[in-house]
Amino acid sequence: MATTGGVSNGMTEPCDVCETSTLHEVSIQLVTESMNEDNAQYSREPYRVRECTRCGNRDSQRMNNA
Ligand SMILES: [Zn+2]
Repeated sequence: MATTGGVSNGMTEPCDVCETSTLHEVSIQLVTESMNEDNAQYSREPYRVRECTRCGNRDSQRMNNA
């Protein structure tokens, strides 16, 4: 436990598949959403994507819960 910080995209978080805390690679992706076809404007929402380095399970979570 001598390391503090340093790793920017490695997060130890609980994995639903492993059912334990594992190392995840975390990245932020902008996902274009077209909820309304009448609306010419597409909104790009940042998603927090994480991938378990143990089982490879990926999930994404929308960062703006508006
Ligand atoms: Zn896992």
